[in-house]
Amino acid sequence: MIPGVRLVVLGRQGAGKGTQCVRLSRHYVVPHISTGDMLRAAVKERTELGLQADAIMKSGGLVPDEVMIGIVDERLCALDASTRGYLLDGFPRTVAQAEALDKITIDRPLDLVVDLDVPRELVLQRLTARRVCRDCGTIYTATGRERQPWLCDVCSGDVIQREDDTEDAINRRLDGYETQTRPLVAYYRSRGLLVRVDGVGTPDHVLHRLVTEIEYRRRNPIVG
Ligand SMILES: [Zn+2]
Repeated sequence: MIPGVRLVVLGRQGAGKGTQCVRLSRHYVVPHISTGDMLRAAVKERTELGLQADAIMKSGGLVPDEVMIGIVDERLCALDASTRGYLLDGFPRTVAQAEALDKITIDRPLDLVVDLDVPRELVLQRLTARRVCRDCGTIYTATGRERQPWLCDVCSGDVIQREDDTEDAINRRLDGYETQTRPLVAYYRSRGLLVRVDGVGTPDHVLHRLVTEIEYRRRNPIVG
C-alpha cells in the first residue's frame, strides 16, 4: 500500500476542495476530515454543539477556536487518522488555529499544506449556481433551465439553494477568507510546507496535478 499522508487543504470556498479531498482520500487511503461536514452533521442531529454552531453560522460567523480545536483534536486521535494520516479541510482557518494545530500534532506533524488556487470571480460564479438536495446532500449546478420543483436524481428530494449560498453570504465568506486565511498561506510558506496548485480544470486534471506536486515535494522537502 502507498504511504499515507497528513495534509491540510486550503482554498476558497468553491475552489473544488471537497471534490479533490474525496479523490485524494481514496488515493492515499486516509480519511477526509471536513470540519464543515462535521458541524453540519452536529446541526442535523441537534446536539448542543450543533445548535450553537447553527446560530453562529446562520449569522455568517465562525465557530469559536476552542470548540473547533477540540473537535479536530478528537478526530485526529481516531485510529484511522493516527495510523495513516488525514486530509484536513476547513481547518485551520486562522494563524491562531494553525498554531493550535501544531501543538496537537507535535508527535506526528503535517507533511504539507496544499493551497488549491482558483480565482475569486470563478468561485463566485460556481457558488451562486450551486444547489443541493435537501435530503441526501447531492450537489447540483443550476443552469436556469431546470423544471420546477426541481427534484433530486438520486432520491427525489427537493433541490434547493442553501441559505449560505446566496451572493451576499458568499461574498461575506470570500472576504472572510481573504482577511483571515490568507495569512495562513504566509505562515505555512515560511515553514516550507506550502504547495500551491492550480485548481482550474477538470477534476481529473486537478487531481493529477495535486498528486504529482505532493509526491515531488515529499521527495524534495524544503529545509529551513
Ligand atoms: Zn437527494
